[in-house]
Amino acid sequence: KTPAKTVRDYIRTIPDFPHEGIMFRDVTTLFANPRGFRMAVDQLLHPYAGEDIDVVVGLEARGFILGGAIAHQLGKGFVPIRKKGKLPGATIEQSYTLEYGEAVMEIHNDAIEAGAKVLVVDDLLATGGTAAAGIKLLEKLGGNVVGCAFVIDLPELGGRAKLENLGMDVHALCA
Ligand code: IMP
Repeated sequence: KTPAKTVRDYIRTIPDFPHEGIMFRDVTTLFANPRGFRMAVDQLLHPYAGEDIDVVVGLEARGFILGGAIAHQLGKGFVPIRKKGKLPGATIEQSYTLEYGEAVMEIHNDAIEAGAKVLVVDDLLATGGTAAAGIKLLEKLGGNVVGCAFVIDLPELGGRAKLENLGMDVHALCA
């Protein structure tokens, strides 16, 4: 008898993308599979059952797909944090360092009510730079980040430690 598939089984690793030497975790195969996608959404939500989350925030771009499904399941709204230049309204921005250079994330300055309990969602936690920038934006708007949920955590890159040092509850489905 073959064991039941786990979320990890639906994710493939593509070598040398986007650069030589990078092992890219490709979640498109997870999202494309009906059982895999539902399993991922259900498991991302599981620790927050009974917690009164007010809003789900997704980080561009795969965090939108997961975050949208989670928000729908919770009956809550969804708010995007995007790369600079994509949001049409007035924004606040936060820069962060990448392996080579800098990136900037933005959120609409009226997207989060002060005191709102926020769940942050993305597909993958690597260095934690992207998520930390998102958390800073949410905290600037007065949001209360109650959890950060990821499908994949690459703990050797330090993201979990970085977010936990910011006082975050980090939840990931696989490494
Ligand atoms: P970090 O800021 O270093 O934690 O990188 C995480 C961000 O980069 C997330 O928004 C991910 O979607 C993206 N990312 C980094 N590596 C991968 C990967 O192997 N697969 C998919 N996304 C990745």
